[in-house]
Amino acid sequence: MSENINFIDESFIEGLITETQNPPAPKIDEILNKALQLQGLDLLDAAYLLNIKSGDLLNKLLHTAYQVKQEIYGNRLVLFAPLYISNFCSNNCLYCGFRVDNKDIVRRVLSLDEIKDETLSLLEQGHKRILMLMGEHHKNCPFDYFLEAINAAYSVKDKKCSSIRRINVEIAPLDENEFQKLSKVHIGTYTVFQETYHRETYSKMHPGGIKSDYNWRLSTMDRALSNGMHDVGIGALFGLYDYRFEVLSLIQHAKHLDKKFNVGPHTISIPRIKPAKNAPASFNLEHAVSDEEFKKLIAVIRCSVPYTGMILSTREPAELRSELFNYGISQISAGSRTSPGGYKQAFSETEEAGQFSLNDCRTSGEVIRDVIQHGFVPSFCTACYRLGRVGEDFMDKAKPGLIKLFCQPNALTTLKEYLVDYADPETKQLGEELIQKELATIPNDKVREKTGQNLIRIQQGERDLYL
Ligand code: SAM
Ligand code: SF4
Repeated sequence: MSENINFIDESFIEGLITETQNPPAPKIDEILNKALQLQGLDLLDAAYLLNIKSGDLLNKLLHTAYQVKQEIYGNRLVLFAPLYISNFCSNNCLYCGFRVDNKDIVRRVLSLDEIKDETLSLLEQGHKRILMLMGEHHKNCPFDYFLEAINAAYSVKDKKCSSIRRINVEIAPLDENEFQKLSKVHIGTYTVFQETYHRETYSKMHPGGIKSDYNWRLSTMDRALSNGMHDVGIGALFGLYDYRFEVLSLIQHAKHLDKKFNVGPHTISIPRIKPAKNAPASFNLEHAVSDEEFKKLIAVIRCSVPYTGMILSTREPAELRSELFNYGISQISAGSRTSPGGYKQAFSETEEAGQFSLNDCRTSGEVIRDVIQHGFVPSFCTACYRLGRVGEDFMDKAKPGLIKLFCQPNALTTLKEYLVDYADPETKQLGEELIQKELATIPNDKVREKTGQNLIRIQQGERDLYL
């Protein structure tokens, strides 16, 4: 058993949810004005917002979240794609298609060559950052294999001589030693979702395997930040327990990390459970989150932890995803497959081997065009991590809203690379128009001029120019 860390005080959080029922309009106005100061909110404020029911107040909240996101990150949406390298798992999470008791999927561990093939498929779609994932199975996919997989993916170049510039990681909680080793292979963000912060629900949902230890999982980011990781991502799987409890716990987790390490979560993910084969807890959810509640919770997180990157995956349908760009989302996946080998479609059983079903099945190209048509700039930027703007240094720029001075120009130059190298003619035209429009809005004369020069240099064949 791991150490009992207790920064999630369940009865305190449940108490906040009860005492903030039916929040009066003036109280909500006061909290939303506070949110616009970009200093975040305390748990009591967030609880009031989570208990909003009426349409008018909800609309005000959604609009405030939009303003906060624009102030911190500007108009860009960062794009990435997941890369699953193994679906072996010795855990038995009741909501997941990879669980050990699902005997109906074909299990695979990709070889290093297969990982390179998958990476090439992603590069050819224009991706520059991937999220590498696998189930937890120490015999069939040991940690050292994972480290080799990262190096294999970084080593691939496509016909345009492009390679993956940032690999984020989402694998089971590591121990101190493993974090030290991971810090040597240059990853971006290390992510683990707590799934549910509610202990009793956690025990029910994780009946077997290492993952059944709640404390081991809750203390993951403390170990990560104490052992060489700079940027960490947290998340909850919505639908397991009361969404208000999970949101307040996520905010509490962020505050805990910020206080202890001066580094809050680089990202917060908000996956909703989707049906998965032979996963009983992925159907008939007792705590299903409606679309309206989902919009609200995204907005509450954005107002409460303004500096964090908020990630939305292809679990959600296309139309809803586009709407959610307006309420605080700052990073999205595109063209995703959740089975090992899914991009090359090399294995006939891949559809069956997915971790859960997807709702946005469009290609990366279609998603990118749609993002542009909604007036947001798809960004493939990886500059911060490559310039060492990570951890506390990143937070120092993100918290006061200074990071967008880098995000905006880098979004434009990476979009330009995409348009020149990978886009279809229609996307090219739409993208060029957007770039010209956005370029004119860069507030600093020198940065605008430099960005304009970089765009010309990219058109002439140079690549990987960033601020
Ligand atoms: N196996 C590692 C772990 O559990 O930490 C790595 C992450 S797992 C491959 C990715 C995440 O998928 C899980 O943390 C869980 O939140 C999510 N997930 C599992 N089943 C899901 C489902 N049916 N619908 C939506 N998300 C699901
Ligand atoms: Fe395994 Fe992760 Fe799925 Fe749980 S969520 S069964 S640990 S892959």
